[in-house]
Amino acid sequence: MSNLERDPQELVCAAVLDASGVEVLEPREVPLGGPRALLVRRTLPQRARSLVGAWCFIDSYGPTPTPRAGTMDTPPHPHTGLQTVSWLYEGEIEHRDSTGAHQLVRPGQVNLMTAGRGIQHSEVSTTAARALHGVQLWTALPDAARGGAPLFEHHEADVVEVGDATLRVFVGSWLGFTSPVTTYTPLVAAELRLPAGASVELPADAGFEYGLVVDAEPARLQGVDVPAHHLGVVPAGAEVLRIAATAGPLRVLVIGGAPLGEPIVMWWNFVGRSHDEIVAWRERWQSDVVADADRAGLFAHVEGYDGAPLPAPELPNLRLRPRENR
Ligand code: MN
Repeated sequence: MSNLERDPQELVCAAVLDASGVEVLEPREVPLGGPRALLVRRTLPQRARSLVGAWCFIDSYGPTPTPRAGTMDTPPHPHTGLQTVSWLYEGEIEHRDSTGAHQLVRPGQVNLMTAGRGIQHSEVSTTAARALHGVQLWTALPDAARGGAPLFEHHEADVVEVGDATLRVFVGSWLGFTSPVTTYTPLVAAELRLPAGASVELPADAGFEYGLVVDAEPARLQGVDVPAHHLGVVPAGAEVLRIAATAGPLRVLVIGGAPLGEPIVMWWNFVGRSHDEIVAWRERWQSDVVADADRAGLFAHVEGYDGAPLPAPELPNLRLRPRENR
């Protein structure tokens, strides 16, 4: 997943804040980079909110028919200072990165890539299923971990039944289940399914902020309606999450985490701490990879992708500033 927005901080989206403290955030449509632009629904970041715990980016897409490979075709592009977390409802994506990882991801499995100080990767959908439908999330790495070595992990999540709900915990620990993928701040992510009309109460960590990434059917969260494709956010302090399927069968992602507590500067595919750091990473990507893909630098090589790396967009004509930490 590659972010092509030049200046996402200038976009304005409404946040509806309920008396319970639940925020409802609207999605916006953004084209992904690559030969054919797949439209994604972005719910984070936006002006009203930059982070949920350390989660800093949420793109949902599909269902989109996959009559040929490459419905999603994101050429090699860099990341720094973040993790990418790929979760599919339907379809299959072929991942390649500069650690040498080459991994298919399918429904029920998570691909987690820790960029650390620098990585590059490509993502191409296959024709293994008739449609592509899923979510990509990013976490911001804390300062203590963001200079570390890049790492790729893949895991098939266990299925947990709680009342009428079926969950798959794919990041962190929840409900007695632990995903082994590496986290650097307290985090959780799970897919949750509920039959039409059903509801569930789940234990929450009062130190976590939580997000409900709603798919095609609407949900109710802590008594607040969250429309299809929106993001519901519960501030820290909740000890129970109450989630209900108000129309058809519900499928959502529940994400959560301890507040990051560090200002971040996000631009394109980089999460840093200053404007100058972002400028330096952009220059290294352009000079080491876009101009001469054989030069082994910070972002090394991706083997096996048939095509050129994705050039960085131009920087906006202003100094990038840290985002408000919420
Ligand atoms: Mn990416």
